[in-house]
Amino acid sequence: RTPLLEVQNLKKYFPIKKGIISRTVGQVKAVDGLNLTIYEGETISLVGESGCGKSTTGRAIVQLDPQTEGKVIFKGKELSTLSSMELRKIRTDLQIIFQDPYSSLNPRKRIGDLLAEPLLAHKLTDKSEVSRKVDDILEIVGLSKFHKSRYPHEFSGGQRQRIGIARALILQPKLIVCDEPVSALDVSIQAQVLNLLKDLQKEFQLTYLFIAHGLGVVKYISDRIAVMYLGKIVELAKTEDIFKNPRHPYTQALLHAYPIPNPHLRSRERIVMEGDVPSPANPPKGCSFHARCPLAQDICRSQAPALQGDEHTVACHFPLG
Ligand code: SF4
Ligand code: MG
Repeated sequence: RTPLLEVQNLKKYFPIKKGIISRTVGQVKAVDGLNLTIYEGETISLVGESGCGKSTTGRAIVQLDPQTEGKVIFKGKELSTLSSMELRKIRTDLQIIFQDPYSSLNPRKRIGDLLAEPLLAHKLTDKSEVSRKVDDILEIVGLSKFHKSRYPHEFSGGQRQRIGIARALILQPKLIVCDEPVSALDVSIQAQVLNLLKDLQKEFQLTYLFIAHGLGVVKYISDRIAVMYLGKIVELAKTEDIFKNPRHPYTQALLHAYPIPNPHLRSRERIVMEGDVPSPANPPKGCSFHARCPLAQDICRSQAPALQGDEHTVACHFPLG
């Protein structure tokens, strides 16, 4: 397998400001030392509760909101060392689809113009070719060229997400970060959009980083799943192994929250979480899951467990299974 993108010790901190002079009083460690290799052609998912740093990671990877520290290496090039010209070029290969396509589509622009925009901005296509490319991409995502003169509000949620996908796809990217692309859609529409993403992946040899808050959505589309908790990956494995042999107590808790009964979890191992996610502005010492973990021992409160393992990695002093 060829690595397409590597994330090394990624950190993203946001300052917490207070008062009328905006004094910095602390920082939120939204992502705090994340390592990840994404292989060509795969779908890897980042899963975890809201606020765990999934979207922040996705936005840093496509350099929409670059990291505070650490490296993002795409095809051997470390993105933070590139000139703005080089970065511009590479960013066509790194696209993102948002949860709410409506908020990312200018309501005063026609669909045809919205889709032509990226092509014109990157000067990749001859002007005479732009219109034909827009027609093609609309067809590819299941819309039609007759939609070009319409405005975003004239479309349903599912159609709007197709437009969001078309806008990302028109630059022929290599990697698309899909940030909860179906969470805002009706359940009946979710499968259609997921199937479309799957078909497009095959047709255009795309690699996906798929972000979701639950394991249910990603089960059928992911090759591998990374479970995040408070800015860190706590478990990473092939999809099958995450479901059949979850080793981190937090992963087990997420599976437990998953509505379809999981026969692989013996009842004595069922983990029920206590309390809420601690604030990333004030993360607990040791294992950041310890306050909610029924298996916590003394060492968990003082020492942070490192991610260990080859194919199936887990960060826990007392992994299950
Ligand atoms: Fe629970 Fe300890 Fe493992 Fe953390 S390291 S998940 S507190 S058992
Ligand atoms: Mg998010």
